Amino acid sequence: MRQSLDWQIAAVKAVRPETRRVRTLTLALPNWAPHRAGQHYDLRLTAEDGYQAQRSYSIASEPERAGEIDLTVEKIDDGEVSPYLHDVLAPGDQVEVRGPIGGYFVWEAGRSESLLLIGGGSGVVPLMSMLRHRAAAGAKAPTRLLYSSRTFDDIIYYHELERLSQAGDGLEVFHTLTRARPDGWRGYARRIDQAMLGEVARPLGRAVQVYICGPTLLVEAAADGLVQLGVPASQIRTERFGPSGPAAGG
Ligand SMILES: Cc1cc2nc3c(=O)[nH]c(=O)nc-3n(C[C@H](O)[C@H](O)[C@H](O)COP(=O)(O)OP(=O)(O)OC[C@H]3O[C@@H](n4cnc5c(N)ncnc54)[C@H](O)[C@@H]3O)c2cc1C
Repeated sequence: MRQSLDWQIAAVKAVRPETRRVRTLTLALPNWAPHRAGQHYDLRLTAEDGYQAQRSYSIASEPERAGEIDLTVEKIDDGEVSPYLHDVLAPGDQVEVRGPIGGYFVWEAGRSESLLLIGGGSGVVPLMSMLRHRAAAGAKAPTRLLYSSRTFDDIIYYHELERLSQAGDGLEVFHTLTRARPDGWRGYARRIDQAMLGEVARPLGRAVQVYICGPTLLVEAAADGLVQLGVPASQIRTERFGPSGPAAGG
């Protein structure tokens, strides 16, 4: 598969709010190359005085969608890049990107093993690319997503996840809300812990392939917990987005 690592100028085709703090940018790429679900792009901003800032953003869309990609960005209030992507960038604007990048945190729908995806906050983004790819490819291997958010309103892609999990193709979605729950909430209501991991992971068996993405504390707790449950570490892939701080895991 071609890796296109030269910078290219993408056009912002659409902007869609996901939650109060998260929006999705659809970028049209002149040198689009199919990605592997889980890969990311680097995005570079250049100020008028030449100062440049560069950050990585996972691809949210499926590789089956040619010519464009979705990036889903959480606004970090005191950040350098994400507030610009939220407050300034608009459809019709241009932005420099390069990618797709990454060969480790990737999943391809041809695999037959069961799949466990664990995400915290915006860590769900590369996992969503995997689920969209899974649906587009018609894959049926048993798959579970365990997704930790602070509150119900912070859940990214809630309605699409509901739709995907009702398609009857072997996907189940488990939410946990760590800070506040709406009345009548039937999902989990605490940080990811050993008991939760056991309930969600055990039915998938020992051969399960695991992808965990989110803040460092969540990633470490989930990976350690799964190893204690007997999942071989070699079957667990992890990706961290930033400091362990406030992202949604707790
Ligand atoms: C491989 C990879 C993929 C990524 N994919 C995504 C993605 O799909 N969506 C997305 O929103 N982000 C993603 N990130 C994080 C992204 O690259 C930036 O780090 C993030 O947008 C913050 O950049 P900033 O310039 O706004 O903040 P900065 O100026 O870099 O940081 C400002 C302050 O916020 C803190 N901070 C930085 N990042 C975080 C964070 N994630 N959580 C809490 N505090 C933070 C910093 O410590 C600092 O105090 C990814 C990171 C990597 C390495």
